[in-house]
Amino acid sequence: MKLHIIPDRCCGAQTCAMVAPEIYAINEEGFNAFVNAPESVVVSPDLEMKAIEGASACPESAIVIED
Ligand code: SF4
Repeated sequence: MKLHIIPDRCCGAQTCAMVAPEIYAINEEGFNAFVNAPESVVVSPDLEMKAIEGASACPESAIVIED
């Protein structure tokens, strides 16, 4: 599974990072970034459910999941 962020949609609510801190984090500007990968990230199978939970919690639908 691969994820990416739509930066214009991210309002910095941080819900993603609260639900799944292993995957999502907030960058210095106060907007979402992926831990260790600011543009996009490939999620390992053991973290896929967490990634989906975090993306589903985003109020702006700013996290896009690509299979
Ligand atoms: S929950 Fe959505 S809007 Fe909030 S920081 Fe995460 S990606 Fe951005």
